[in-house]
Amino acid sequence: MTVPSVLETAREVREGRLPPHAPARAALVRARTSDDGPMGLHAFLSLTGPDGIPQSLPEGPGPDPLVPDSGFIPDSGLAPDPGSTPRPRGSHGHLSLAGVPVAVKDNICTADLPTTCASSFLEGYHSPYEATVVRRLRARGGVVLGKTNMDEFGMGSSTEHSAFGPTRNPRDRSRVPGGSSGGSAAAVAAGIVPCALGSDTGGSVRQPAALCGVVGVKPTYGRVSRYGLVAFASSLDQVGTFGAEVADAALLLEAISGHDPRDSTSAPLPAPDLMTGLESGVRGKVIGIPREYMPDSLDPEIQARMEEAGERLVAAGASLREVSLPHTRYAVPTYYVLATAEASSNLARYDGVRYGVRAPEARATREVYDASRTRGFGPEVVRRIILGTFGLSAGYHDQYYGRAQRVRALIARDFRRVWADGVDLLLTPTSPTPAFPLGERADDPVSMYLSDVFTVTANLAGIPAVSVPVGVTHGLPCGAQLLAPAWHEAPLLAAARTLERSLREAA
Ligand code: GLN
Repeated sequence: MTVPSVLETAREVREGRLPPHAPARAALVRARTSDDGPMGLHAFLSLTGPDGIPQSLPEGPGPDPLVPDSGFIPDSGLAPDPGSTPRPRGSHGHLSLAGVPVAVKDNICTADLPTTCASSFLEGYHSPYEATVVRRLRARGGVVLGKTNMDEFGMGSSTEHSAFGPTRNPRDRSRVPGGSSGGSAAAVAAGIVPCALGSDTGGSVRQPAALCGVVGVKPTYGRVSRYGLVAFASSLDQVGTFGAEVADAALLLEAISGHDPRDSTSAPLPAPDLMTGLESGVRGKVIGIPREYMPDSLDPEIQARMEEAGERLVAAGASLREVSLPHTRYAVPTYYVLATAEASSNLARYDGVRYGVRAPEARATREVYDASRTRGFGPEVVRRIILGTFGLSAGYHDQYYGRAQRVRALIARDFRRVWADGVDLLLTPTSPTPAFPLGERADDPVSMYLSDVFTVTANLAGIPAVSVPVGVTHGLPCGAQLLAPAWHEAPLLAAARTLERSLREAA
């Protein structure tokens, strides 16, 4: 199913040819139909009301201080964004998402719909405030269609760790959509919405994008506000965007980017202009192929898709260079030590007192904590809290957490060295396998963790990366990952667009 693009929808609505609520109403019908029945996708955990859309389209960006004008921050003393030019005021930037239905991952706070993180702990929880990304997309005219299914608190790679049941892959309903943002990826792949928000701590936007055959972007750490994104591993978490096409994901990313005084890790930089240069291609660019991401054990069909992608980039004027990122093999263990350590601390707030469920039988304070946490958390979350607490405990802190921090610095240095050597972008597979059958890895945490071998490095290094569909392997969608230096989203997406265009022209 193809859905009208973000650009088209917003233009029709802005120019008055389409009533503002029409695209979202149509999307609501598609969402209900797709999610219905035992073989339904189950992409959404909640939808906007049955009688239409409760939100109204704003008049304009309004006086909301969290929704900055596009352009440079006056007197910030900062250099302009690399690769971006200020957008003229009054351009379509104002209502770039007019009437566009957007699916939002259920770990991003909305005031109208519940925010559950797909956890029993937060079943029925309503946030008293909205995430900055949600306020920004609404201010641009976007409509939150519903909240999407995910692995509980973002922990997983298949959306099977949702307390409310898994999501199915729209390309093959017996298979997983990937995760943890599987509901958002499925909603876009099924043509319910043209774009969606997810979060990417170790690959949770890019990997499901690859498995569902859509575009998924993880921005530079600090590019997008985390205010109102429920914390999993704060030094790695970043809100990312999905699109049916590169332009859809880019428009949504533009709308939500930029400094937020409410998030101290958000960079004091304006939102980048991702559209002006989107068709600028890759002529003259040096694209590195890291040998650690193309092991001999790589599935030969995936290998073939990567070689074709490389040839397409060369045909568009880029050159390829084999490079090495020697610390890549430590990335998965490093990620799992750090992510679980941060999670064990972030999830301490779920104590049965402040948020979500409270075990009714508990009497003493300690009992409230224990019984509520036992009842509220699923097995994967418990595993992560135990691992993380162990890695931070007095006798083991240096051996695990401290060492992982040092290896993280080496992984980031690998990338910096490659950029310093004149490489502009890197090309790798997004996932070592296509979508796997539901249940296949559910009881094997290590094989699930290995789904992230190619994606966790971008989070550890804080750099932006995109997954773009590059055909099929074993009859299922295959994604190529492009990575860029920090703040270089514009050239990154231009390269992704080059691949997309080249594949479409060939089809
Ligand atoms: N699959 C990874 C994990 O389980 C990444 C999750 C994510 O990016 N939220 O931790």
